[in-house]
Amino acid sequence: MSEVRPLRIGVLALQGGVVEHIAMLRQLGAEPVEVRLPEHLEGLDGIILPGGESTTIGKLMVEFGLLDPLRSRLQAGMPAYGTCAGMILLANDLGASKQPELGVMDIRVRRNAFGSQLDSFEQDLEVAGLDGPMFHAVFIRAPIIERLGGGVEPLALLENGTPVAARQGRLLVSAFHPELGDDPRIHQLFLEMCAATVAA
Ligand code: GLN
Repeated sequence: MSEVRPLRIGVLALQGGVVEHIAMLRQLGAEPVEVRLPEHLEGLDGIILPGGESTTIGKLMVEFGLLDPLRSRLQAGMPAYGTCAGMILLANDLGASKQPELGVMDIRVRRNAFGSQLDSFEQDLEVAGLDGPMFHAVFIRAPIIERLGGGVEPLALLENGTPVAARQGRLLVSAFHPELGDDPRIHQLFLEMCAATVAA
């Protein structure tokens, strides 16, 4: 009988909402690993890129030598979940915004898409693939997805049809912050993607 080991999930820990993701992962029985340096990528089954300030996180990734090794791991198929700034870092098209990016997911993302009047808001959303009630989504200076590439599946839409969560193979993104509530279903979905990758 093979021993079941917990999934080792990295959380990019350079800036932003790190501790909430770590707590959520622990609650779900995964082993969180704080990632600051390239060597922290070893042995990970997946990685979460948290919210924060994508320009700052991107610059720090360059400074810590993480940007290229992390991109290589993602291109080699390591699953990733980007929330908010994390989604911005994963996108391959940021319009006019020039900043360090991983660029592995075929989406165009517009930063700070809700402007200053609507800096932060909360909304119940239907999220594809989740059982049970609607998901209470918290948006903070959130981006939106302006274009979905081929092979990118929208998972949640605002009432006006704007995609705010999506999946492309082993990459999952949301413009909102599931780590801030007590609903672990989206993290659970990500862990299922990681487990499926380990099993493959
Ligand atoms: N506005 C931030 C950015 O552009 C993202 C905000 C967030 O992660 N909550 O990077």
